[in-house]
Amino acid sequence: MKESLIGVVGSGTMGNGIAHIIALSDIKVVLIDINQEILKKALLNIKRNLNKQLSKKKITNKQFDSAMNNIKLSTKMEDLSLVDLVVEAIPEKYDLKVNLFKKLDSICKESTILATNTSSISISNLASKTKRPERVIGMHFMNPVPVMKLVEVINTIHTSKETTKKIIDLSHTINKVPIQCNDYPGFVSNRILMPMINEAIFCLDQNVATKESIDEIMRLGMSHPMGPLRLADLIGLDVCLDIMKVLYTGFNDSKYRPCVLLEKMVSSGFLGKKTGKGFYNYEL
Ligand code: NAD
Repeated sequence: MKESLIGVVGSGTMGNGIAHIIALSDIKVVLIDINQEILKKALLNIKRNLNKQLSKKKITNKQFDSAMNNIKLSTKMEDLSLVDLVVEAIPEKYDLKVNLFKKLDSICKESTILATNTSSISISNLASKTKRPERVIGMHFMNPVPVMKLVEVINTIHTSKETTKKIIDLSHTINKVPIQCNDYPGFVSNRILMPMINEAIFCLDQNVATKESIDEIMRLGMSHPMGPLRLADLIGLDVCLDIMKVLYTGFNDSKYRPCVLLEKMVSSGFLGKKTGKGFYNYEL
């Protein structure tokens, strides 16, 4: 896949990080979003993150320049007609993703692998909406993508061994550690992480402790690098809510019901770090 051309659809929190690490591995990437303004913001973010790596001497000037040169921005899905792989990173909404997968299936060449960065939506279902179910797979990156090593590689009942092998090889090429699992609501990571975050929000809502205390108890007591409420802000409260809803309906089990406080924050537009306000306040 080193010689390949890769498309990334969605240039938000995850998409710009995914484009960043692919471009830094000397692979050409087409980054797609709905308008130029969003794309310009994404490119600025990539530049800022590459600069951080440069100042910490994790990359060289040459790598910085070649990574920036490897990224092409576009609002036209047709620019993905010749890519070998598409990594989809648009919002966690079923209808949006199904429509996109159908469109990609009609635009991309037959051999293109369609990967989704979904946190919880059924990848088997997305695959079944295409004419290439054996070339549909989950590539679940962690946030922030340039820093976190894991890629949860999610195989569906349809995924071919060849597709999985290509994605495992690519994950190594872009300096990630791929770990495989099977398609089930929330896979492994979010099935365990999100109910913990949701429970921390219940603790806050029921005044069990302050937000700072909840986070410090989990950070110091469980050796977590950050508390669950701060992590929820980093992930995006809308993303957390969407995942809880998928777990709730996917398992049809009340233990996954999203906390009302989480629903309230999302409907008030407090989405965490990306909007400057979540459980904590952030400079934008
Ligand atoms: P985000 O809201 O930050 O970014 C989504 C981007 O997709 C936006 O820039 C939006 O303009 C763009 N978009 C929307 N519709 C589009 C379309 N039809 N075509 C092209 N672009 C479109 O979302 P995010 O946090 O980056 O999440 C993206 C995906 O990654 C979701 O499925 C989410 O569940 C998953 N994910 C998120 C995290 C996280 O920590 N945020 C971690 C792992 C996986």
